[in-house]
Amino acid sequence: MKTTETSTDASALRTTWDVVVVGAGTAGCYAAATIANAGYDVVVLERKSEEEAGHIACGDALKGADGFPDAIPKAQIEPAFTNTDVDHGRFEIPQEETVLEIPIPGELAVIDRFEYGKRIIEGALDAGAEIHYDTVVTDVCQEGTGRVTGVEAIRTGDDRSYDATVVVDAAGSLSVLQDMVDFSESTFDTNVDFSQFSSAYREIVHVDEPVEWDDALVFKPTERAAGYLWYFPRTSTEINVGLGFQMSEPPMELVEDLKRDLRNRSEFEGARVEDKLGGALPTKRPHDSAVHPGFIAVGDAAGHVNPTTGGGMAGAAYAGAYAGEQILEAIEQDDVSEAMLWRYNERVMDHYGGRFAALDIYNILVMAADLDELTSLIAAMPGEKLSEALYSGSANVSWKVKLETLFKSRGHWDTLWRLYQTKQRAEEILDHYERYPSHPDDLSAWQRTRDELMESVYETTGGEPKY
Ligand SMILES: Cc1cc2nc3c(=O)[nH]c(=O)nc-3n(C[C@H](O)[C@H](O)[C@H](O)COP(=O)(O)OP(=O)(O)OC[C@H]3O[C@@H](n4cnc5c(N)ncnc54)[C@H](O)[C@@H]3O)c2cc1C
Repeated sequence: MKTTETSTDASALRTTWDVVVVGAGTAGCYAAATIANAGYDVVVLERKSEEEAGHIACGDALKGADGFPDAIPKAQIEPAFTNTDVDHGRFEIPQEETVLEIPIPGELAVIDRFEYGKRIIEGALDAGAEIHYDTVVTDVCQEGTGRVTGVEAIRTGDDRSYDATVVVDAAGSLSVLQDMVDFSESTFDTNVDFSQFSSAYREIVHVDEPVEWDDALVFKPTERAAGYLWYFPRTSTEINVGLGFQMSEPPMELVEDLKRDLRNRSEFEGARVEDKLGGALPTKRPHDSAVHPGFIAVGDAAGHVNPTTGGGMAGAAYAGAYAGEQILEAIEQDDVSEAMLWRYNERVMDHYGGRFAALDIYNILVMAADLDELTSLIAAMPGEKLSEALYSGSANVSWKVKLETLFKSRGHWDTLWRLYQTKQRAEEILDHYERYPSHPDDLSAWQRTRDELMESVYETTGGEPKY
C-alpha cells in the first residue's frame, strides 16, 4: 500500500503501516530509509527520547566507511567523521614489550557516534520514514499461522498497537523481540545464549597535548579475561577509550580496569572525561536464519558483528539495506513468507556472514588457549598477515614468512601448531558458508554438516562448545 500521507499528527494516530522497524540505530535507519525511498510507509519505533536517540555505546571506529549502502547518502554521514587519517592498528603487547604496527585495509573513519546517530536518523526522515520516539516495544503480535502481524508498544506512557505487513527487529544486541515470537513455524535461529556476547564500556576523554598515535587504532590485551582495551582517536586530543570481554569469562570490573590503564599512560595525565557509556555486543557467528513470516532481524539483533574486532556498524547498515530491499520485493509480490524473505539471509552470508562465522573460530581458540602463550606468538607473527586474517578470516602466508615466524616463535610451537590447524578449520567453515542454502527447506542439512565441522573446531582448539 503506497501512501502519500506525511502529516505527523495523522501518523501519530495511525495503527497500520507497511513496515514497522523497531530501533533507530544503524540497522533500523538503513532499513527504514530503503523502504521509505521506494514510497512505502514505514515507522521506526525508538524507546529513547528525540534528544537521546542515536547516543549509543561504541568505539567509534567505522570500518568500510567508503562502501556504505546509499539508502542514506554518504554526504549525510560524512560530517560525523572526525578522523579519516587512521591507516593502521597499533597492538601494544606489554608482556612482550612489543608494539605491532598492522595496516588496516580499506577506508576507516573514527567518528563522533552521537553526531552520526543523529545524521542517520535525519537520513531516514529525509527518505520519508516516520519516527516515534519514547516508544518501547513490549510485545510482538502473531496470527494463527505464526505470521508476525505487528507489535504492541508503550508510547509516552500510553499503550499503542502497530499493525504491519512486516516487522523489522533492529533493536540491537539486547533486543527482547525474539523472546516474544513463537518461531516453531520457521527455521529462525533461536540458538542464542548470553555467553556468546561481550560486555563493553567506553569513555570519551580529552587531553591537552595531541597524542602521537592519532593515525592509529590502539589495541591492548586486558590483564584479566580474554578481551582488549582500545584507544581510538576521534581527533588528536579527543580519544574514545574502552574495553570489553566475552561474557563466558569471569566478569571484569570494566570501569576500574579502564581507570587503572589510563592512570598508567602519561599522555592521559590531567585528562577530562566527557561521556561514559556501556553496552553488550554479539561476538558470535550470525544467526543461521534471521527471517520468519512477516519478521526480519537485522544488525546486532541478528549477530552481524565482526566477532574478533567487535565492529558492527557496517554489518548493521548492510543488513538494514538488504532487509529493506527484500521487504520491498515481498510487499510487491504480496508474499511475506519465510521462503520469500530468505534471499536476505543469502545476501548477508555471502557478503560478510561466512567471514564472521570463520572469524568466530579464532574467538573459540582465544577462549581456550593460554593467553600469554597466544600474545607471545602473535608478537612473533608478520603484521600484514595478521591484518589479513583479522578482516578476511583467512590469510595466505609464503614459505619464507612461515620459516621466519617459526624461528621467531621458538618456545611456542605447540600453540603455533594449534593456530595453524585452527586456520584450516576456519577455512573449512568459510567454504561451507559459500554453500549456504537458497531455500529454508535445505537449511537443516546444511546445519548438520556445519555442526560436524564445528565438532572438529572444538577438538582442534580445545574450546567449549559455543552453540
Ligand atoms: C562499547 C561498544 C563499542 C563498540 N565499538 C564499535 C566500533 O568501534 N565500531 C563498530 O563498527 N561497532 C562497534 N560496536 C558495535 C556497534 O555499536 C553495533 O554493532 C551497532 O551499533 C549495531 O547497530 P544496530 O542498529 O543493530 O543496534 P543499535 O545501534 O544498538 O540500535 C538499537 C536501537 O534500538 C532501540 N531499542 C532497543 N530495544 C527497544 C525496544 N524494545 N523498543 C524500542 N526501541 C528499542 C535502542 O534504543 C537503539 O536505539 C561497539 C559496541 C559497544 C557496546
